[in-house]
Amino acid sequence: MTAKFKANSKPFLTQHYSPLELENEVRVFWEKNQILKKLEETREKNNNGMLGYVEGPPTLNGIPHVGHARGRVIKDFRYRLKTMQNYYVAFWAGWDTQGLPVELEVEKTLGAKNKKELLARVGEERFVEECKKSIMKYHRLWVEADSMLGLFIDQDKAYYTHQDRYIEREWQYLKHAWEQSLLGEGYYVVAYCPHCQTSLSNAEVGLGYKEVQDPSIHFKFRVSGTENEYFIVWTTMPFTLVTDMIIGVNGNEEYARVKVGNEVWILARARVEPIMEELEIEDYKVLNAMNGKDLVGKKYDYPFKDLIPKQAELDEVPLIHTVVDEDFVDVTTATGIVHLAPANGEDDFLASHKRKLPMFAPFNEQAVFTEDAGKFAGFFVRKTDSMVIEELENRRLLLKMKPIKHEYPTCWRSHHKLVWLARREYFVWIDKINDKVMEAAQKVKYFFDSPKNRFLAFLKEGKRWCISRDRTWGSPLPIWVCEKCGAKTLVASKKELVEKAIEIPGKDFELHKPWIDRVILKCESCGGRMQREHFVLDVWHNSGASPYARFTDEEFSKLVPVNFLTEAVDQTRGWANSLLLEHVVMTGKPVAPYEEFLFQGFVLDAKGRKMSKSLGNVLEINKMLQERSADITRFYFLWKCSPIDSMNFDPRELKGRPYQVMSTLYHLHNFFMQNAEYDKFNPKKHTLEWSTEQNALTAPDRWLISKLQGLISEFTKKAEACEFNFALSTLEDFIVNILSREYVPMIRKDLWSDDPETLNRRLAVYSTLWHVLKTLVLLSNPTTPFISEALYQAVYKKLDDSLPETVNLDSWPTPNLDLKDAALEEEFDVLLTTLPIVYSARQDAQLKRRWPLAKAIVVAPEKSQQALKKLEELFLELSNIKAVEYADELPQVESKQWAITSEGEVQVLLDRTRDDALEGEGLMRDLARRVQALRRDLGFSPTDIVEAVHVAELDDKNMQLLKPFLTEMEGLVRAKTVQVHGERTKVDAEWHESKLDKKKVYVAVL
Ligand SMILES: [Zn+2]
Ligand SMILES: [Zn+2]
Repeated sequence: MTAKFKANSKPFLTQHYSPLELENEVRVFWEKNQILKKLEETREKNNNGMLGYVEGPPTLNGIPHVGHARGRVIKDFRYRLKTMQNYYVAFWAGWDTQGLPVELEVEKTLGAKNKKELLARVGEERFVEECKKSIMKYHRLWVEADSMLGLFIDQDKAYYTHQDRYIEREWQYLKHAWEQSLLGEGYYVVAYCPHCQTSLSNAEVGLGYKEVQDPSIHFKFRVSGTENEYFIVWTTMPFTLVTDMIIGVNGNEEYARVKVGNEVWILARARVEPIMEELEIEDYKVLNAMNGKDLVGKKYDYPFKDLIPKQAELDEVPLIHTVVDEDFVDVTTATGIVHLAPANGEDDFLASHKRKLPMFAPFNEQAVFTEDAGKFAGFFVRKTDSMVIEELENRRLLLKMKPIKHEYPTCWRSHHKLVWLARREYFVWIDKINDKVMEAAQKVKYFFDSPKNRFLAFLKEGKRWCISRDRTWGSPLPIWVCEKCGAKTLVASKKELVEKAIEIPGKDFELHKPWIDRVILKCESCGGRMQREHFVLDVWHNSGASPYARFTDEEFSKLVPVNFLTEAVDQTRGWANSLLLEHVVMTGKPVAPYEEFLFQGFVLDAKGRKMSKSLGNVLEINKMLQERSADITRFYFLWKCSPIDSMNFDPRELKGRPYQVMSTLYHLHNFFMQNAEYDKFNPKKHTLEWSTEQNALTAPDRWLISKLQGLISEFTKKAEACEFNFALSTLEDFIVNILSREYVPMIRKDLWSDDPETLNRRLAVYSTLWHVLKTLVLLSNPTTPFISEALYQAVYKKLDDSLPETVNLDSWPTPNLDLKDAALEEEFDVLLTTLPIVYSARQDAQLKRRWPLAKAIVVAPEKSQQALKKLEELFLELSNIKAVEYADELPQVESKQWAITSEGEVQVLLDRTRDDALEGEGLMRDLARRVQALRRDLGFSPTDIVEAVHVAELDDKNMQLLKPFLTEMEGLVRAKTVQVHGERTKVDAEWHESKLDKKKVYVAVL
């Protein structure tokens, strides 16, 4: 065996595509050569512009899974794309390290019944230490996941939301709000999680709707001063009867008095029939109808005055326990009459607030009823549902009780049912600046309409933002209150605190509970002691402060508004919202801190179910990428569907098309290298210009290069528009179809020779492939950075040392319109749609593709005929036919001789007649194909020239047919000689059995 060509010596490019090994080698290459650092330094010095970026910080309370990976892959795609377009991008990591999620994780680790018990047992200091330990444990896993995924995010420049310097800068937002009177305290009904023992923001409430079971009750309130007339009411929260103050009707709607037995019931006219059906009452009669307005002001007998003395007192207040008119009362559901408990509902609170009714909120911080709740005192509010039902029944006021399942907000972390409670909280009064917020949000580019509309609709509500939380591990609210005179002050830096303090817990105290609570200030008004308000800040305020808090002043002025952010679509209520609100508060201007925001859909499992621990279908990134390729996973994320759609992630699909595309790209490079190195191709000399000067480019080359220009434009356009799936399907089509299935067969024969006379032609093919393949590698880099780097090093950098050190430092391709040839592309379209018709005609007539045929007739429109005539040589070669004729109409032919197949306007007729010469050539090609396969199996490189090929046990007829074609066969199988034997005589190589038209034949190669 004369191995003229040895597999290249550089790492990465091997005979087979082994992505896991390749990716490990690339990781080492990046690490060893500090590629990321060099890339940052290069682009920082010399760029087309600086693009700000602020990392949407993942919460370090869990293991990274594929749901997180989708966004991270998109972020990295964008980073590499923009970097190759010569922008400097501040792609620096960031981690969300505070708040409830982290506390819950620690509570779990320390095995706590509830927060109170835990703090009593371990103390706040220990608790805070455990929080820090917990986040660092997860931090390690996240950094590892980023490295496995190939993220070029700068971990050295990461921010952490619990660091003092971050918190101090976060406080600056509050200072701006305070100074503009946008921050203050107030009573408000807030959602409260009984398990986490904290209130939740409106944004958080939206995160946790779930189907739950509640008691559904219909009951009645007697109209005061009547014997037997009642308002009919429905609720699923019986405990709210304890704080009931008024009932609401809709003044613009019609109500009815209905006779039921010897009672008269009042309810919405439109609800009479459904409610009677629901209560299984057949015998009733509508007495009269009236306007809702006519009911307003009527008093009803509050039923629990004897159980709740405080309610008896309140009953004396005008308006309390009367009917009021409210627009929000809906007469298309329930009874059209609602009871309102201002301490336990937001609408209820507002209805009471505008009528200046006193607040009756008889519960403590733990949502347990206090003494004021009379008989119900000492119970957690929701625990009294059954007591209330029983009391209604005792008083013969309960009409019906049954459990129902309905959608109800639950805690997004602990999944407990939320309750609404009036509490003293701190608020940012977003309602005062909502015009600016809306204006800012309108200016942002969202790429897709549905998440944009969702975001704007949410913002439009403009609800005040409750930023206080009753927790431990968070940024402290920096407001101190005087014990004596009640004066308040906001102090937004540690330095100022130390200056103003009369007590501090040592000089180096950190800005967390419990230490911050030991800072006592002196009241400037009365000289009294000022204590800090015990609250910490909403975790969304914490992460929403990142555009200012993670940068220095100088960076902030250069990099904010940042250019492009992407997070999951639930962040419309989360991070995207808090970023925007805080920035408007901080700047006082209608501007967002980001120019573009792509919201992504969720990642679901293969069956479209949410991934959850309970279903056991969560795929951890680190574990998954031990066994699966990061490149192919990245490709799959971007390719499978639009980024706004939910994605059903099925690991089995990685092995399909995504693998095929990568593998094809890899093997095209192998094919190129084996041939190009053999012919000593030199990319610096043998450029496309050189090939043009040599007149060595043929139509297929020019067609391929023309198609490439279209790909560059289309891919770039779709990538910029975040239509990654469309970008990748054009790339996929180019690699698999245009290049591998169509172009390569057109030029394969040109490379199948080592004749010095045709060397320039071969070099021209290499110059074409170099140009096209390198462009494909550059276009692939944002999606599949590992294989792109590997090919860049093993092929391009190897043959041209003047190239940059890494593919990432090369430039993003731009289309060259001079290389575009629309007319030629049209001609090839005709060729490439006609060839499959020839192939199916052969299949119909059972004429193998390797059998040469004497003649074809193509019946086609004039324009198609012209195109085929121009490319006739290619057409004949690819269809393996000796001659072609053209016709406008189907000619009269003998059907025995001619096979006919048609598609659309085109008909192809094939001459079935095969003489000895055609049969012999066909036989030779069949055999040559078997020898080529055998050569490959025996480990010969395609360019190796073997000493001899022996063929044995052909029958006499075939032997005679084959003989005239032996010389041609020598060329096809790259052998110095091909010999045919009757029997398997002794040769210097092993005989291998093969089948030829069901007959055995033996081949040996040496
Ligand atoms: Zn909770
Ligand atoms: Zn004071």
